Amino acid sequence: QGRKVVLYIRDVMGSLPKYHVVDCRTLRGMRNAGKYKRYVVTRRTDGEFLLNFADNLSRDNPETYRLDICKNCLWKELNLRYVYTPDAFPLADWFNAIDPGYAPPPTDALYGPKITPITRPISNYPPDWNLRSLQCRKNAEWKCEVCSIDLRLAPKFLHAHHLRGTGYNQPKDLQALCIGCHAEQPSHYMKHLPDYLEFMELHGDTWKQLTSN
Ligand SMILES: [Zn+2]
Ligand SMILES: [Zn+2]
Ligand SMILES: [Zn+2]
Repeated sequence: QGRKVVLYIRDVMGSLPKYHVVDCRTLRGMRNAGKYKRYVVTRRTDGEFLLNFADNLSRDNPETYRLDICKNCLWKELNLRYVYTPDAFPLADWFNAIDPGYAPPPTDALYGPKITPITRPISNYPPDWNLRSLQCRKNAEWKCEVCSIDLRLAPKFLHAHHLRGTGYNQPKDLQALCIGCHAEQPSHYMKHLPDYLEFMELHGDTWKQLTSN
């Protein structure tokens, strides 16, 4: 019988991850694929999770998001398919309940709880990423390099996009993109982000006009 833990992937590309509470099929699959190290362990049980979005400036000021529980955990392992929907699993109650049959997912190789979701180093990014990102956006005079929208008064909506992937961080590998254009890049799932929605509300008309030609 182990102590209860919650696992999730903290560094994401835009689509919200699920959290896991038992060693479900998804976790076993990630272990087999050699991707298990992407998970962090948390003991926070209020349903809010700290996330970092790749390419997103808010990674300097991590934000919390409400996440759903993994369906493999909820349906197959906990057998609670018809009891709770994934967005309404009572995490704190489950966490505090004594559960003699509980076997936690293996956490030895994972970050946390000593290295917390806050202190874990960001994967893939050079330590001076913030400076490189700033330089890229400065060089572009705080304008999007695709649609030219001027964001010097709203710099958080201007991102430094990796043209060749996150392993390449030279000035020529980075492009300043407004969050609107950034979200249109392949496998950048950003359209549900609070920043994206705010950008569309404040600048959506301008952006649509600029990108319609
Ligand atoms: Zn799961
Ligand atoms: Zn743009
Ligand atoms: Zn990007």
